[in-house]
Amino acid sequence: MLGWFGRRSRRRKLLRAPVEGDWNRFLLVNVPQFAQLHVDQRDRLLDHTRLFMAEKRFEAALGYQITDEMCVTIAAQACLLLLADDPITARYFPRIRSIIVYPETYAAPVKATGPAGIVTEGRSFRAGEAWHGVGSGVDGYIILSWADVKRGAADPSDGRNVVLHEFAHALDGESGSVEGAPALKDKAEYRAWSRVFQREFAELRAAALHGQPTLLNTYGAQSPAEFFAVATEAYFEQPWHMKQMHPELFGQLKRFYGWDPGGGGLG
Ligand SMILES: [Zn+2]
Repeated sequence: MLGWFGRRSRRRKLLRAPVEGDWNRFLLVNVPQFAQLHVDQRDRLLDHTRLFMAEKRFEAALGYQITDEMCVTIAAQACLLLLADDPITARYFPRIRSIIVYPETYAAPVKATGPAGIVTEGRSFRAGEAWHGVGSGVDGYIILSWADVKRGAADPSDGRNVVLHEFAHALDGESGSVEGAPALKDKAEYRAWSRVFQREFAELRAAALHGQPTLLNTYGAQSPAEFFAVATEAYFEQPWHMKQMHPELFGQLKRFYGWDPGGGGLG
């Protein structure tokens, strides 16, 4: 209990201090949704961003330099997912302790075992990844390529955003496993979620198989976890299209995230 009260008062104190640095410029340039928000939402996103930055560790890979612009941009984009929450009590991705930033897409070793037990090893080039630490007892972390973070922000309506994608995986992991469903309120919500998500996932797989055009990135056809991450990207980047083309999916995401990035304010 003391820890909880301590955290609340620490957060209140931190938010009373003035913001140092030109954060508004970073937010306007690198978080396209920021300009679309109501004034109360902007203030709240700024508070979330400050607390996120105070409570997470940012690390640079390979001697690269972390800048304020990187921290503010990544924190603010991640906190779009939590915008409906009160900053004083928000859970800032509790399984994620640090964010590691690479300058560019980076190579990661991969190892896959084929049907005959043949192990293939190689390197895969990645824009980001989430290690949520579920079941491992190890603190989770998110790895991001700064070049890809910037690319994601450059076109706010292309449905691609690596920060939203990786932090959606982090939310998914909060339920105890990463399988395309974050922690929901009750069984009824899980039932509704799984009915809609299973159908939409099957439709995306079929469309990907037949080469049909889709609003959602067909990367999401890989697994339910990737589907949730890709659907989250589209929800925040193409809310109007999603509402029209996938109304039930949009409805589930709106209930979960608690606000409509296409307008309509908080709640
Ligand atoms: Zn993913």
